[in-house]
Amino acid sequence: SADRAVVLLAGKVHPRVRERVEAEFDALSIDAADAGLLSDETRNRIRGVAAATRISAEFIDSLPNLEVIANFGVGYDAVDAAHAATRKVMVTNTPDVLSDEVADTTVGLLLNTVRELPKAEAYLRAGRWVTEGAYPLTSLTLRGRTIGIFGLGRIGLEIARRLEAFGLSIHYHTRTKRSDVAYTWHEKLIDMARAVDTLVVIVPGGAATENAVNADVLAALGEQGVLISVGRGSTIDEPALISALADRTIAAAGLDVFADEPNVPQALLDLPNACLLPHVASASVSTRNGMADLVVDNLREWLAGRPAITPVPECASFDREAG
Ligand code: NDP
Repeated sequence: SADRAVVLLAGKVHPRVRERVEAEFDALSIDAADAGLLSDETRNRIRGVAAATRISAEFIDSLPNLEVIANFGVGYDAVDAAHAATRKVMVTNTPDVLSDEVADTTVGLLLNTVRELPKAEAYLRAGRWVTEGAYPLTSLTLRGRTIGIFGLGRIGLEIARRLEAFGLSIHYHTRTKRSDVAYTWHEKLIDMARAVDTLVVIVPGGAATENAVNADVLAALGEQGVLISVGRGSTIDEPALISALADRTIAAAGLDVFADEPNVPQALLDLPNACLLPHVASASVSTRNGMADLVVDNLREWLAGRPAITPVPECASFDREAG
């Protein structure tokens, strides 16, 4: 209808986002955020974007009346939020509602990696328990490990709490030391990698963390080293990781995120000491529904002239005051 704000559904949006945007706004859809797919007239009408794909500065500039971009996911490295902020376009993400789910999955991935549980199940299903006897003892264990968490934010802290309850000692690396935790802080990632044998990566993607986990960091972890990566694939130097796993510079890796999703390098698929998941850390029906609601609630609040619920830091300075 004429008085409803026009909201663009960009990319493969979650069905609940689609359903609610169609019910509450005037909805438009495109598969990729490409200005060439929209007429001038349509671009002029768009006031909000529900984003499940890359949103470039060029695309933002092609929408003269854009007011808000609501990103599906806490990680918003695919949205040019710095550019949006220069145009006073609000960008929101979905923090907190997924932290417990992602932390749970991370612990599961760590256990699967060191205790080879997916391989043991495949062994049973292939009938090998009957024909060959017990599955071989795992050379790795979680017992006695020292954990280094790269990124102790909302999710990293939940991972730390869980692994603390497992009786493991916890170190972390962030740019700023936290005053509210007793875990051991390292100013430099390489120094933490020397001090621990298990590196859990849960920092945001983007230029500041690109290829931060490089050959030197992996070598510092040592031959009992385990890498667990659940932040963004861009943070890991993937070719260096493949080499480190192949020549046993480190012992094993568990990965939920990759440099070029959904394409996983064949070399990684071929490695017996890599435990691989298709970016599923937050992927339960209930958690994804919570994220979907937060996307649409942010659009609703901002387009109604109220404060955003979860603005990204780049946009916090021009958020509206809560009344
Ligand atoms: P937060 O913003 O709460 O935490 C980010 C943490 O990383 C902070 O401790 C921050 O500390 C640290 N950090 C940021 N940049 C750097 C840097 N350059 N060097 C060192 N430390 C850094 O985010 P969340 O915990 O909510 O989410 C983290 C990320 O996890 C998301 O951005 C997303 O990419 C990823 N994620 C992946 C999922 C999956 O499905 N696999 C699901 C959900 C999230 P400081 O600022 O002091 O450096």
